[in-house]
Amino acid sequence: MKVALFGGRFDPPHFGHLILARDLYESGHFDTVRFLVNYDPPHKKAEASFPHRVRMLEILTKNEEGLEVDAFEGERAISPSYTYRVLKAYRKAHQNCDLYFVVGEDQLAQIRTWKNYQELPSLTRFVLLKRGTLRVPREIMEFFRPMVLTVRKLDVSASEIRRRLKEGRSVRGLTSDEVIQYIQTHSLYKEEPLSIYADASAKGNPGELTVAFVVKRGDRIIYEFSRVAGYGTNNEGEYLALLEALTWAKRENLSNFTVYMDSRLVVNQLRGTYRVRSSRIAPLYMEALSLLKELGVTVAYIPRRLNVADPLTRLKLPTL
Ligand code: ATP
Repeated sequence: MKVALFGGRFDPPHFGHLILARDLYESGHFDTVRFLVNYDPPHKKAEASFPHRVRMLEILTKNEEGLEVDAFEGERAISPSYTYRVLKAYRKAHQNCDLYFVVGEDQLAQIRTWKNYQELPSLTRFVLLKRGTLRVPREIMEFFRPMVLTVRKLDVSASEIRRRLKEGRSVRGLTSDEVIQYIQTHSLYKEEPLSIYADASAKGNPGELTVAFVVKRGDRIIYEFSRVAGYGTNNEGEYLALLEALTWAKRENLSNFTVYMDSRLVVNQLRGTYRVRSSRIAPLYMEALSLLKELGVTVAYIPRRLNVADPLTRLKLPTL
């Protein structure tokens, strides 16, 4: 039996992997294409555990003729999973199979960095996936003598999927809906926490107000906003900045975040530990409170030097 071994982390598996495996099978050169899931890859570690990656591949490939998921590396706990070790053990365990190890051009071009790469051609035949003009050095081609197959490549990668999930963005269309459901059920590739920093400055009290907010996902700034907001007191400015931030978050369908502000007074008022006395503040307070409730989020105090929205309130903005 001719077996194509398609190795990878599959962290998570996606339609690029699936279409490639299907193309390999349909090429007619192999009786089966096996996804060989890396257990402990030496060059780049996987984020999701081995059993999760195996399960996601099973879900992605269920009912696909000619495609199989192989948990060999994990069953044998081959660690680190150097290819020469895996192939040696695999060959021993599957003596009745003709093995074909599938590699991309990038992998073959730098195969001299793989441990004991000289042993590899004696362990299996190689299948080189060609996607345009070949860029593998001649001496490597001569040493490995791979079967060359021209294949397509979808514009999708597992790292893009992980990044999008951490940013809370959709990955529909990149992998199957059932894999996405699995990722959500098991809280894989978790979103990084979202924080919004709101602040205002007044030129005089009352004076001309500038309001600003900054949105961060983990350490990355994903959105910044500032505008001149008319004439008012410091506190009115703080509330206007908060309202601006909450209205934006509502429009963007965001929840599950914390708003950081450097006004203890406003934070205490919104937490109900300090009364609102000013009739000018009361309607702003009521509006902010109802938006906080609707979005299910809270405000927290941070010192001014840590409030990343503070510098934005000092920018020279054109007056309206
Ligand atoms: P990452 O983005 O985490 O580096 P990846 O999606 O590129 O991951 P792996 O799971 O490590 O992929 O890849 C397994 C194999 O799948 C590799 O040989 C790689 O060349 C191939 N592959 C990855 N993405 C695609 C794609 N979009 N189309 C075809 N083949 C792909």
